[in-house]
Amino acid sequence: MNRKDNKIIDILRKEILCNGALSIADYMKICLTHPEHGYYIRNKPIGATGDFTTSPEISQMFGELIGLWIGHVWIDQQKPKNFSLVELGPGNGTLMADILRATKRISGFHSALNLILIEISPSLRKIQKNSLKGFSAQWKTDLETLPKQPTIVIANEFFDTLPVRQFKRNSDQWYEIMVNMEASDDPESNDFCYQLMKTRDKIFFNSEDRRIGDGCIIEISKSIQDIVRYLSKHIEENSGAALIIDYGKEGNLGNTLQAVHQHRYADPLRFPGEQDLTCLVDFEAIRNYAERSGVVVSNLICQGDFLKALGIEERARVLSQNLRGKALSLHQSALERLTSKKLMGNLFKVIGIRSEISPPLLGLEF
Ligand code: SAH
Repeated sequence: MNRKDNKIIDILRKEILCNGALSIADYMKICLTHPEHGYYIRNKPIGATGDFTTSPEISQMFGELIGLWIGHVWIDQQKPKNFSLVELGPGNGTLMADILRATKRISGFHSALNLILIEISPSLRKIQKNSLKGFSAQWKTDLETLPKQPTIVIANEFFDTLPVRQFKRNSDQWYEIMVNMEASDDPESNDFCYQLMKTRDKIFFNSEDRRIGDGCIIEISKSIQDIVRYLSKHIEENSGAALIIDYGKEGNLGNTLQAVHQHRYADPLRFPGEQDLTCLVDFEAIRNYAERSGVVVSNLICQGDFLKALGIEERARVLSQNLRGKALSLHQSALERLTSKKLMGNLFKVIGIRSEISPPLLGLEF
């Protein structure tokens, strides 16, 4: 896209001129989900022709095993006759299509489920409707009001897109990292730059943060806090479970903001609105927000270990029996990508949440 045609650059400039520098969270929010020109609103970001590929797009085995996990939770929780199956950020709808195919033979499961998809992007909703043809589903832009009934939630690579604020400690002073503009003669430059701004915003900090060394950066997401609190309270009151899979870490230390454009890393400030922006998900924060709402939180385990515990290697063997040549080698490399400690198997982590009265979660509590 030509720089002159990039509406997000104009929107960011206007916002900074009127209201001053933007927090990283506000910058992410405008770039990713501005109602008209945001990256997710305008683009088809996922898959070989997009900017990035996700686990369900790599192999059908991913969604099939998540389907098995969901079916298991439903059976374990006394097969409720009405329950909500909620997906946060369903992308191309591939994961849900595989989940629904894999659960077809679980007696009573499909007739009990009420499918709810939380998706902000109209263009992705269209793709999801096509992937889920033949199933009735309800689309919502945010969680707000889930029906009061048992609820099973799945979120794969959703939390990493949520806006994050960054703070830096220099001696005893905390600064917030902001996005501002600087004058530049370079016509190629869009003139956005980082700026440290003194902050008195103490709402996020507690005494433990004294551990954080001089010069360190921490990341905090109010959106993740709000969503995890809402979901946890909902699950505690109505029973059910949530499965969160994302690339992440334990703790909030470090600058993890990154941009991906056409399957390559890019400068987060360089192509606003034309590239994906993400941060590593802080699973320790998720655990804390959820536990304070009274739910049980599972161990945090690596995606590879989780998928192996659910039987991905056996499933891969069965599928490979009918494959030859290029199809077989693609299938084998998909298994490797999803499970290897050097690839997504380790980078991606899985955590589960359940109501206190529910049995332990398959593959996550032992
Ligand atoms: N889960 C999918 C796609 C992950 S990409 C997969 O595994 O392939 C992130 C998804 O979250 C996209 O569908 C995007 O449009 C959606 N999304 C991003 N921010 C959102 C928000 N604030 N509210 C609802 N959906 C959002």
